[in-house]
Amino acid sequence: GIKSSESYWIYQENACNKLKPYLFNYIMKTIEHFVYGKPFSGESKKVGKIFNPATGDQEAEVKLATTKDVNVAVTNAQKAFEAWSNKPPLQRARVMFKFKELIEKNLDELTKIIVAEHGKVYEDAKGSLTRGLEVVEYACGIPQMLKGEFTENVGSDVDSWSIRQPLGVCAGITPFNFPAMVPMWMFPMAIACGNTFVLKPSEKDPSCSMRLAELLKEAGLPDGVFNVVNGDKEAVDALINNKNVVAMSFVGSTPIAKYIYENCAKNEKRVQALGGAKNHCVIMPDCDLDQAVNGLMGAAYGSAGERCMAQSVAVAVGNIGDKLVNSLAKKIETLKIGPGMDKKSEMGPLVTKDHLAKVKSYVDLGEKEGAKLIVDGRNLKLQGYENGYYIGGCLFDHVTKDMKIYKEEIFGPVLSVVRVKNFDEALKLVNDHEFGNGASIFTRDGDSGRTFSSKAKIGMIGINIPIPVPMAFHSFGGWKRSLFGDQHMHGPEGVRFYTKLKTMTARWPSGSRSDPEFVMPTMK
Ligand code: NAD
Repeated sequence: GIKSSESYWIYQENACNKLKPYLFNYIMKTIEHFVYGKPFSGESKKVGKIFNPATGDQEAEVKLATTKDVNVAVTNAQKAFEAWSNKPPLQRARVMFKFKELIEKNLDELTKIIVAEHGKVYEDAKGSLTRGLEVVEYACGIPQMLKGEFTENVGSDVDSWSIRQPLGVCAGITPFNFPAMVPMWMFPMAIACGNTFVLKPSEKDPSCSMRLAELLKEAGLPDGVFNVVNGDKEAVDALINNKNVVAMSFVGSTPIAKYIYENCAKNEKRVQALGGAKNHCVIMPDCDLDQAVNGLMGAAYGSAGERCMAQSVAVAVGNIGDKLVNSLAKKIETLKIGPGMDKKSEMGPLVTKDHLAKVKSYVDLGEKEGAKLIVDGRNLKLQGYENGYYIGGCLFDHVTKDMKIYKEEIFGPVLSVVRVKNFDEALKLVNDHEFGNGASIFTRDGDSGRTFSSKAKIGMIGINIPIPVPMAFHSFGGWKRSLFGDQHMHGPEGVRFYTKLKTMTARWPSGSRSDPEFVMPTMK
């Protein structure tokens, strides 16, 4: 009864799915580490489980590195540093050009890896890879960025110039929600600047990093320049405590970001640690409501709200509240939720069963706290995907600033509407919140837009833009408890973070030597 090649493959897939429980122990994939240009299994017997969030099936296990395993990776990165840092920036850039080409060639495969382990929908996963690719493209211009500065005659016949030199072994620790993009905020910049790198991706979706490591090797990156260790807290602590790791980039939740910041500083490392968020979207009464609602739908429910730049608070100013809530509710009811590989899906599942339980518990809490639950997505069941980690879009109205669902990051498809009287009250709300990652305003009034962008204590601002993520040639980062450290990621800030400044002053006097000087020279 097989009519076409497509139905043949569906038949094969169904047959495999039926056999999977029986074959599981024989076919389960183990994800190892990637050190000095090849897979590395390490000594650890500890493993984590990798699930497909769309089905709830375990698909693989991942090795969780011991301290010794991590130290092997760092030693190999250290070994590769001297030769790599001495390579002319132009040659380093050529590896990045080749890497860019390979990512483009393998975009579909990389996207499918993200969908399979994270759950987000295919086009969104592809978009996140493209945002990572843009950092690679920026890193291709590294010779220009490392040119340095020169002043002839800082004093009579004295010249001075500054250069930026690489640091050594840098490490990156990344979250589950962008398994390609967030690591790519870090390593292309670090490597192009002449450093070597050890990445510890999220243990929930590590496969994409492993594939990127293979592509870097194929692009001609020397062994040991880029390494991946998979693991949990033990691996993180090993990186923090290893003296040969000189710089740490972290992205994840705020408590862990603070832990990383404090402990890396204690261990004399340079550190940038990006944390959690609660992004506000201020909806002014004069805005184009359709634009604002469409913007909010994508920003609150895209990627099931698992984005650090997701809009989780809509601040309704003046009399716009009822209209806003009604329009949002209608759209949320029609959200298409399903597996990430289904072209019709607009929102996929959450990443794990535990995370689904956590998000649901916040919705329960919101009701107890007295917020009005306008749309309840908790009871969503998808036929054929009963064990997947799905939740429908949720909408709360009349949320107040003392509620936990307002104060804390939920990291799911839950939007809270807070009503305020005027612009000043909206701005104060934004500024009083502990997080300061992103914020947007929807308005047709230039004064409101400009005042908001100038006065909000937030790292990234959108004016009629719902998710104001900076492009690769600007830099990404929040304020307040959304970023510990001084420098944002990628772009010009990335170059500064991954290099240190050296300034030379020189003169070449001829004839007799000058006399000793016992006072501060004033360069007359
Ligand atoms: P997480 O903090 O749980 O994990 C991040 C990394 O830290 C992972 O690699 C994990 O293995 C490690 N880790 C977890 N617990 C640890 C511990 N106790 N000690 C040492 N290391 C530990 O974050 P997550 O759940 O993977 O990701 C979601 C969070 O990341 C959200 O809070 C989100 O806002 C944040 N995030 C922030 C940004 C940003 O740019 N500010 C970007 C993406 C995600």
